[in-house]
Amino acid sequence: MKTYHGSCFCGGVTFEADGDLADGTMRCNCSFCRKTRYWEMRLPDPDGLRLLTGADLVADTPRSDGAEMHNTFCRRCGTRLWSAGNIEQMGGRFMQVFVPTLDDATEEELIAAPIHWADGAHDNWWNEAPETRHL
Ligand SMILES: [Zn+2]
Repeated sequence: MKTYHGSCFCGGVTFEADGDLADGTMRCNCSFCRKTRYWEMRLPDPDGLRLLTGADLVADTPRSDGAEMHNTFCRRCGTRLWSAGNIEQMGGRFMQVFVPTLDDATEEELIAAPIHWADGAHDNWWNEAPETRHL
């Protein structure tokens, strides 16, 4: 496992995240992921993210579906940061970092990272999305 250093576009929010891109990442066809072109890496430990700076800048995207899910972004520059929550079907508590924020992930690592394309649009995350070219 590695410790990555991540930040938003304006640099106000910085954090560390324990995980390994080689263990896999996820993209999804649900409306949130489609509209934000989300790409995430689930951390093995839901407490594996440490906020270093910018606690006053992090904000959650409002949700209307009542899910125990926080899609966090920087309210100064708008960069997506991570998604955290507690959903039984996902194995309980989780922390998923927005991969493009990871500053010390090398280009080679990003290219090689396996991607699971989830069919979230049909509440069917564990199966492959039937089409991914538009995501
Ligand atoms: Zn920012």
